Amino acid sequence: MSAEKVVGRFAPSPTGPLHFGSLVAAVGSYCLARREGGLWLLRMEDLDPPRVVPGAADEILSSLERLGLHWDGEIVWQSQRSEAYLAAVETLRDKGLVFDCACTRKEIILSAPHPGEEGPIYPGTCRRGLPVGRKPRALRIEVPPEQVSFSDGVFGRVQQVLVDAVGDFILRRADGLFAYQLAVVVDDEAEGVNQVVRGADLLSSTPRQIFLHACLGNRIPEYI
Ligand code: GLU
Repeated sequence: MSAEKVVGRFAPSPTGPLHFGSLVAAVGSYCLARREGGLWLLRMEDLDPPRVVPGAADEILSSLERLGLHWDGEIVWQSQRSEAYLAAVETLRDKGLVFDCACTRKEIILSAPHPGEEGPIYPGTCRRGLPVGRKPRALRIEVPPEQVSFSDGVFGRVQQVLVDAVGDFILRRADGLFAYQLAVVVDDEAEGVNQVVRGADLLSSTPRQIFLHACLGNRIPEYI
C-alpha cells in the first residue's frame, strides 16, 4: 500500500511583507512537502480586516514567486470562507459545545484567578447561561478538563489542559469575526492538509486546534 500523499501548506497573514520568521515557515513547509512529492498549498489568512495591510498579500505572493516557492492549486482567502466557518459553528452548537458569552475583556481580567500564557483564562462565567439582563457578545466553546497531548515534529511530546491554559475559548468574536483558531481548523480540514509546519509561536495554539478537529470529527494533521 502506498503512503498517503503529504499535503502541506503555508498560511501567512497579510499584515505586512513576508518577514524572516514567516519565510522560515514557508521554506520549512515547502521542503517537507516537496521532498515527499507532496502538495504545498497557500492560504491567505486575511480573516481580520482591521489588521490586514493593503498591498501586503500581493507583496507576499510576489516574494514567494521570486524565491521559487511555487504553490499548488488556487489560493484560499479566509475573508471568503465565512459560510464554512458558520457551518462548523453550527455543527459544534448541535453537539452542545458552544455557548454565548456576555463578558467583556475587562470583566474576564477582573474575575480570572490567574493570568494564562496568552492572557486571562476564561473563568467559565457564561457557561451555564448569560447573567440576567446581559446580551451575548462572543461565542465560546466549552473545553474539558482532560489533557490534550500530541507529538510535535520538533518539540516532541506536548501536553496542555485547555481549561487551565486558556479556558473556554472564542470561536466568534464580539465584533462578529470568526476566530483564527476556528478558521485554521476548518480550512486545514477542507483543504485536506495533513502536515502543518509553522512557527513555534503557534505551538501553544495547537492543542486548541487538535481539540476542535476532534470535536468536528476530523483527522488530526501532523504538526511540526
Ligand atoms: N497566519 C498565521 C501567521 O501568519 C499562521 C497560521 C498557521 O500557520 O497556522 O502567523
